[in-house]
Amino acid sequence: MNNKNQHRYVIIGAGMAGILAAIKLREAGKHNVRIYEKADRIGGTWRDNSYPGLTCDVPSHSYTYSFEPNPEWSRHLPPGAEVQAYFESVVAKYQLEEIISFNEEITDCKFINGQWQITSSRGNSDYADFVIAATGVLHHPRIPNIKGMSSFKGKLFHSARWDHSVELDNQRIAVIGTGSTGVQIVTALSDRAANLCHYQRTPQWIMPVVNAEFSEAEKAVFRNDPAALKRIQNDPELEANIERFSVAITEPDSIAMHEIENIVAQNLEQSVTDPDLRERLRPQYRAACKRLIYSEEFYRAAQSPNVEIIVEGVDSIEENGIRSADGTLREFDIIVLATGFEADRFMRPMTITGENETTLEQAWAKRPSAYMSVSIPQFPNLFMLNGPNGPVGNFSLIEIAEQQWHYISQLMALVENGEYKKVSVKQSALDEFDKARVAAAQKSIFGSGCQSWYLDSQGIPATWPWTRAQFKEAMQTPKLSSYDFS
Ligand code: NAP
Repeated sequence: MNNKNQHRYVIIGAGMAGILAAIKLREAGKHNVRIYEKADRIGGTWRDNSYPGLTCDVPSHSYTYSFEPNPEWSRHLPPGAEVQAYFESVVAKYQLEEIISFNEEITDCKFINGQWQITSSRGNSDYADFVIAATGVLHHPRIPNIKGMSSFKGKLFHSARWDHSVELDNQRIAVIGTGSTGVQIVTALSDRAANLCHYQRTPQWIMPVVNAEFSEAEKAVFRNDPAALKRIQNDPELEANIERFSVAITEPDSIAMHEIENIVAQNLEQSVTDPDLRERLRPQYRAACKRLIYSEEFYRAAQSPNVEIIVEGVDSIEENGIRSADGTLREFDIIVLATGFEADRFMRPMTITGENETTLEQAWAKRPSAYMSVSIPQFPNLFMLNGPNGPVGNFSLIEIAEQQWHYISQLMALVENGEYKKVSVKQSALDEFDKARVAAAQKSIFGSGCQSWYLDSQGIPATWPWTRAQFKEAMQTPKLSSYDFS
């Protein structure tokens, strides 16, 4: 069968999930596939983020496609550049470049006469029988609206738009934000900056995870013994720990969560010697309410003589520096905004119009939601990877995307085999799912009283509120009665 007679698949985004979808489709003999990528390179978040200290907080051999193990990971938690290089090597191996349109953002998708009509930023049109939205979550930097920001005469940029032309050594640097990103940047720059001020609106609990290197001997074993490589990829001890973590975040009163609380509290007590600094660094909310930060080094960096933790709050930015709420002006050469991302954007600002002229903005007027994290009513034959309401936490989103693919492909098969023309989730199924999800999410640790990017605009965790094992189970087989087929 030539391409013209095959169903056409459009994948939006050439990050981790889009690459996965393309590989899986081709593996299944589906070759009428095009990936649209708004940037000039693959990699998504790993392309966008290149700041000093960038490290994946998921163990490297877990943050790996199940079908593409990698014996070369250098450390337990891999540096960001290595993750990007891994995805580039996978794309090269599967020769995906030939099906990617780079620098081409999809601006509009409309479901017309049983097909998706697609328009790109270049004014090109395409069509698809299936759209796979693999646009990622954290890709629109959140730029705070700080008084006077444009008057700053030094260099100012967001962490995901790092300006590599800027000299860092012996500079006066401010980092605003104490998420995973701010913590990693401060840790990496503490040895390089002349002085480094970390503007901390809210302190973080820090899990002291040791980021050990894999020795050459270990890598040689992984290279030469596929069984050993598989074993570390599916390490039962690590698996048990991740599952325990997953239980902890869903059951805040569990022993597992109390263990986490003890570890991070002890880490603070034992690592920070100055009582005043210790109190500045002590969060007033429960561990893992915000994404738990893994760092063996942050408290060392925070206690370096050239590092200051500023808790007074940013009042304004002036041409030479930052004025705190207490009136103090500190002068800087560089200001880094480690202020996070607009996590509720998903495919937007793309406009998407499904059946009955329903727009995505209408469908998500209350909050972004998706049945089982993959499907939206009135949007037939459109599926999301890492869409709203999927599991998040300190575990691999690659694994989650693979499970979602397993689920989605079963739904698509019913259309591919000619049984039906289109499939989309029933509104009633989403409503029921969302009701249960919201109720459970409010009881999860993410809903225990802190601000984080996990929360939607109403303060409700936007996440899968059950365990990771329950998600895996849910992804085994779609409940067909939840879907409309025609
Ligand atoms: P984030 O967790 O959303 O943190 C943003 C930080 O900026 C918070 O400390 C926030 O303070 C602060 N902030 C925002 N606006 C501010 C303002 N106007 N004034 C002062 N402070 C302000 O963002 P992120 O650190 O970029 O991390 C986002 C996610 O990316 C992580 O949770 C993680 O999932 C992922 N990530 C992963 C890794 C990894 O290791 N895999 C590394 C980096 C990032 P408040 O807390 O007070 O709101």
